[in-house]
Amino acid sequence: MYLDEKIETMSRNELNTLQFDRLKKALNAASQTRYYNKFFSDKKIDVSKIKTLEHIKDLPFTTKHDLRLSYPDGMVAVPASDIVRIHASSGTTGKSTVIYYTQKDIDHWANQIARAMYATGTRKEDVFQNMMGYGLFTGGLGLHYGAEKLGCTVIPSATGNSLRQIQLLQDFNTTVIHITPSYALHLVEVIKENGINPHDLSLKKAYFGAEPYSQATTEKLENLWGIDAYNSYGLSEMNGPGVAMDCIHKKGMHVVEDSYIVEIINPNTGEQLPDGEEGELVITHINREAMPIIRYRTRDLTRIIPEPCECGRTHRRIERIKGRSDDMIIVGGVNVFPSQIESVLMNIPEIGNNYVIIIDRENGLDRMHIQVELYSKLFQGDIKALKRLNKDIVEKLRAIIVINPRVEFMEPGSLPASEGKAKRVIDNRII
Ligand code: ADP
Ligand code: ZN
Repeated sequence: MYLDEKIETMSRNELNTLQFDRLKKALNAASQTRYYNKFFSDKKIDVSKIKTLEHIKDLPFTTKHDLRLSYPDGMVAVPASDIVRIHASSGTTGKSTVIYYTQKDIDHWANQIARAMYATGTRKEDVFQNMMGYGLFTGGLGLHYGAEKLGCTVIPSATGNSLRQIQLLQDFNTTVIHITPSYALHLVEVIKENGINPHDLSLKKAYFGAEPYSQATTEKLENLWGIDAYNSYGLSEMNGPGVAMDCIHKKGMHVVEDSYIVEIINPNTGEQLPDGEEGELVITHINREAMPIIRYRTRDLTRIIPEPCECGRTHRRIERIKGRSDDMIIVGGVNVFPSQIESVLMNIPEIGNNYVIIIDRENGLDRMHIQVELYSKLFQGDIKALKRLNKDIVEKLRAIIVINPRVEFMEPGSLPASEGKAKRVIDNRII
């Protein structure tokens, strides 16, 4: 039933004591880092004044911006020789968010993922095919190490190459997969196109994560694949996947509360909200030597489910992520900020002032289509020159946002003019 019964079923009091103890250690470690040392002193924060878990609300938030400012290693709390791995957030190029791990951190991460996988019924007899990106992205290696810890047979198939994925699924009798919901929607179609009934595979379950998706999508995927779907939430700043995962009951994701302190805040005021109310998830990592992060604003909207879970685990659950409080869009698993696109477009003299970003999902794959108005004098330009310009813009965009958008030139004044705050993103995906 439990991989680590003592930790997983700890009473709330014991859990609070453990969390407070680890919070103190994390705060002391953070204070030793270049970034937090200055951050706390600028904000006149004395960490020794934190005497109870509730005092956490007196600490300042850490944001993505802080992580960028601390690039590359301003938040590292151990000597460089103790670092065994780094990862980086997928959506950013250049000055991305870099996360550091010691050997102990990697072990803790693997353990918490093994625990969460076990809670969904995965055992050492399972064959686990990991269809997530490997590399700097945390999705691949995160669950990989957890599944190995559990003793599963791990197939590190990574993303894409659908025909090979299908062959692996068949030849090695894969029982568990880890995949983004959007790729799962696509892959199941390829399976059917190849004359295979997905229900005939040995597959029993899937972990879906890395992007927002709805309960309706979960159900659709369960039916199409003939499997049980488990929601898996995480973010690189908090290690990667494995921050919170569904248990066998699939009624909300248990947060690994021995590693993370979660709070829900009002995204506009920063005030803490009581359990049960919806708001922005704020997480403090209290179980990482290399890089403690205090009160990180995830921008993800959810609520804490206060009721106990049927499985007997005492660690609280969070509900499926509703969306984000900022304007970041996730396209094909890659994080894109409209401002990144704007910065490219607005630096091209031939482009007018108005543009719109349209996101669609075709056959389970996300597509970005950008309509841009041309500067009026250029609209009559010759076709060849316009084609060259189009190619040039696509290349410039791809260098910044990693994905390949389709760019369509529009007549000046043809796009809806905004009154006040412009709506730049039209997301047609039904998730
Ligand atoms: P990565 O590099 O793994 O994409 P990021 O840290 O850039 O990692 O992305 C993490 C973000 O992905 C989360 O903050 C959240 O918005 C989204 N995400 C991850 N898992 C889920 C999930 N199960 N449901 C909804 N959104 C998710
Ligand atoms: Zn449970």
